[in-house]
Amino acid sequence: MLKDKVAIVTGSTSGIGLAIARELAQEGCHVMLNGFGNAMEIEELGHEFQSKFGIKVGYSPADMAKLDQIREMVHQTEKMFGSVDVLINNAGIQFTAPTENFPAEKWEAILSINLSAAFYAIQTALPGIQKRGWGRIINIASAHGLVASVHKPAYVAAKHGLVGLTKVVALENAQTDITCNALCPGWVHTPLVQRQIDDRAALEGISVEMATRELLGEKQPSLRFVQPDHLGKMVVFLCSDAGSSITGASLSMDGGWIAQ
Ligand code: NAD
Repeated sequence: MLKDKVAIVTGSTSGIGLAIARELAQEGCHVMLNGFGNAMEIEELGHEFQSKFGIKVGYSPADMAKLDQIREMVHQTEKMFGSVDVLINNAGIQFTAPTENFPAEKWEAILSINLSAAFYAIQTALPGIQKRGWGRIINIASAHGLVASVHKPAYVAAKHGLVGLTKVVALENAQTDITCNALCPGWVHTPLVQRQIDDRAALEGISVEMATRELLGEKQPSLRFVQPDHLGKMVVFLCSDAGSSITGASLSMDGGWIAQ
């Protein structure tokens, strides 16, 4: 369906971004991977995508905290593949602490990587997308883009900001075939969430299994994690023709989290 389209997926060496990149590749989309990790494993991943799905794969090591590297990633993709048609702003980090103790450097890092990076990537990719007249921009926000939780001032602020940015970009391109949407997942079992589970287990002196049950029970009525590949399939749907009227939306995939 996305044969010969080109996607950048930031933070695609792990978790949700990796699942999204895989689903796009499966649809014939060339993919620029990005994120940190073991160089050999990333190379192997590229080879796997190429041989399984017959697409082209690139890798940009750009740090999403650095404006010049974000711009370079977009330009490198345009040079390598000829365009950027699908931009998935997914890279993100987390840190939790009460607001009065929240370290300034963590605030700055989360705002840069989880919010400003998306703005800079969109700003750099948009002129080319507008010239070609077709594009899909999908920002991976969170249930925390719509509601708050304690001890996550930077994350909640950044994700609410990302939902706002999504709406502006959608409005500015509403009369074209360029859409911009936010996905708002609840708990997805990735390294980012495993760290929160491990911290909870250590703090409360309970098992990891118990901490997992508590984490889900507190917020996610389904009591099940959201599947990363389901997020990837939602991205593919938004990229389809049937998704062309969905723009400016914040789509919850959260097992009922924000329905409460
Ligand atoms: P993850 O830790 O598994 O993956 C994060 C990815 O981002 C990795 O590839 C990492 O290398 C990359 N990354 C981190 N900092 C980067 C930087 N400075 N520059 C470039 N890449 C960087 O996390 P995940 O759970 O897959 O999270 C992906 C996105 O989904 C994040 O934006 C997160 O906020 C959001 N999200 C996650 C959940 C969840 O429950 N896991 C829920 C809602 C939203």
